[in-house]
Order: sequence, then structure tokens, then C-alpha cells
Amino acid sequence: MNIKRNILLNPGPSTTTDTVKLAQVVPDICPREREFASLMGTLRSDLLRIVHAPEGEFTSVLFCGSGTLNIDVCLNSLLPAEKKILIVNNGAYSTRAAEICEYYGLPHINLRLPIDTPADPGAVEKILADNPDIAIVHTTHNETGTGLLNPIKEIGAAAHRHGAIFTVDTTSTLAMRPIDVIRDNIDFCMASAQKGIMAMTGLSFIIGRTAEIVKSKDYPRRSYYCNLFLQYDYFEKTGQMHFTPPVQTIYAAIQGLREYFAEGEEAKWARHTRVFNAIHEGLDALGFRDLIRREWQSGLVVSPIYPDDPNWDFGRIHDYCYERGFTIYPGKVSDTDTFRLCALGAIDEKDIHDFFRVFRAALDDCGVAVPVRYKEAK
Ligand SMILES: *Cc1c(COP(=O)(O)O)cnc(C)c1O
Repeated sequence: MNIKRNILLNPGPSTTTDTVKLAQVVPDICPREREFASLMGTLRSDLLRIVHAPEGEFTSVLFCGSGTLNIDVCLNSLLPAEKKILIVNNGAYSTRAAEICEYYGLPHINLRLPIDTPADPGAVEKILADNPDIAIVHTTHNETGTGLLNPIKEIGAAAHRHGAIFTVDTTSTLAMRPIDVIRDNIDFCMASAQKGIMAMTGLSFIIGRTAEIVKSKDYPRRSYYCNLFLQYDYFEKTGQMHFTPPVQTIYAAIQGLREYFAEGEEAKWARHTRVFNAIHEGLDALGFRDLIRREWQSGLVVSPIYPDDPNWDFGRIHDYCYERGFTIYPGKVSDTDTFRLCALGAIDEKDIHDFFRVFRAALDDCGVAVPVRYKEAK
């Protein structure tokens, strides 16, 4: 089988290997069979290994759905009665977490911070000191809308000093930027199969402290399909998902993990870093500016600012690249026009060099002056 290889520079789903794609082509199986439960059992343990979570103390719970489901499940399931959530919000994904709190009517404080600066753990500490009823502190590791990295270890330490648990949206870092739940003070983290583990969409997972999940059995029940304890308990009793799992997606995820461990945590992070650096070199050569200071970037997402050129037309440039097998993506900030180039997926620096040849031709095709121009001096 010859499958066209597209280079996805969007923030997930990411470019996958052919072996991951083909892992989905398997004999039909009823997922209630013991054979399938055993595959999921191994998958659950392997996910713990990615973030160095001690088995037993931590567990992983699988869900059928996209990554947003994890945020929904954690926040609605882990909040005791009469307690509050603190959302440390400096971007689109923490804003999404605050919206989830609103939809469920969960008491919360939405601590809005500048979107171009790492969250200040001191500000978090102050809110915690003033609000002893905060039971959960939640933030986003890599704010995928901008590529800003948050100091999770310090925020987690502040949460723990005040007796709160720390839930982190690691969807755009897990299995890419090394994470160690103990070192990083994480009680719950999460991701979906199409990002760091370079598999398919439709499978999401939460990794967290078993004792906290068990305690949550007695917390207010706010959802049926999206309840963490219910799903965990069903896995523990039967080895299965409560409801029909995304069968073929799970086969792809298992292959993705095989390839993850074969490549190795450090080597994979080194590859993403090579890709990230190649993206910066290509953008620097064309004169683009970044939204986020380089030292504050996650190493996975670059947000260049639109140049001030009347011929700049993101849609047209996107289409030119897309027709040639390269996908670029718009930004996600309200007051500055940006686009995004991401270092996720089964790609390497050569793919980025190939991309920049096409991107340069797209700029020429539109008549955008190179190096690109900005009205304001730096
Ligand atoms: C991709 C992503 C999600 C999940 O988004 P879905 O559209 O539900 O897949 C959640 N959080 C972050 C930080 C992400 O990058």
C-alpha cells in the first residue's frame, strides 16, 4: 500500500508513520473479548511509563473522545462538594477549562494572566492563600494556541502547599517534552493519542493518582459518560471501557507506543527540538517575528506574527502549501494576527527544509516582500 505522506505543521493531529496507519487494519474483534482487554491493560501501563508514574500510586484511564474530554472529565469528577477550582489561565486551552467550569456550574476562580508570559506561581500562591476552599488547581503545560510553556513544577508546588490537587493539560507536551509526574508535582495529566504518541484521533487518556480517583466516588456526580471514577472502576473490575472503545484507534495507539519506546524519550525530544530549531531558522531567514519570547516557548509550537504587507494572504499561502503536502495553521490569539508552525509528529528537520522551499515559493506567488516587513521597529 502506498499512502501519500503529508507534513502536518498544525498542532495535532500529527503526521504518523505508515506502520501506525496500517496497525488499524486488523481482523474484526469484539472489544468485550479478553484478548482486547489484555491489549488495553498493557496500553494503560505503558502510558504510565511515559510520564514516569509509579504504577499503583498512579493509574491511567482511557476514554473515547478528543482531548477536550479529558479536561471535562477531570474537572467535573474531581471537585468535592463546597470546594472551588482555580484555573491558571494564560491562553485558549485554560480558557476552555474555565468554560467547562461554567457549563457545569462548578465554583471556580478564573485567574486571567497575560497570554505572552509564563504564569507567575507567586500570583497563584496568593490566590490559594486567600481562598482555602480551593481543591483543584488547573493549568495548561504548553498553551498550544501560542506555544507558551508554563512553570508547572512551581505551580504544582504552590497547589500542594495549600492542600489542593494539581491537574495539568499536557495534551500538547506528553510523549514529546519529557514529563515526570513526581518531579513536576502533577497529580493528574492528560493527552490524546493523535499528538505526542503520533497515533490516531478518538482515544484520550488521563493519568493520575489512584487514591484521588477512589476518593472521588463520593463527590457530587455531574456527568454519566464523563465520570472518572465510573470509568476507572469499570476498568478495574472488567479490564474494559464502560462503553464501546474506539477499537482500531487503540491498535494504532499501541503501535504508536511501541515506536515511542523504540525511539526513546530523550531521542524523541531531541528530534522535536531539531524540528523546532529548523522552523526558527527558516522563519528567521525570512524575517518573521515571534509572538512569544524564544526562551518562553515550549519547543513545540512557533507563533509568527503576520507581516505588514498588503499582499500577505494567509488563506492563499495555506492553500499553496496544502496543495503541495504541507499543512500550516492559523493562530489562536484575539488581538494579534499570528499563524502556527508546530514540531509535533513523525517528521524531521529535512521535512522542514522542504517546507520552507514551498513556503518561500508561496510568498513569492503572493508577491509578499522577503525579508518580510513590519511597521513597527522591533
Ligand atoms: C489539542 C489540545 C487539546 C484537545 O483538543 P481537541 O480538539 O479536543 O482534540 C486540549 N488541550 C491542549 C493543550 C491541546 O493542545
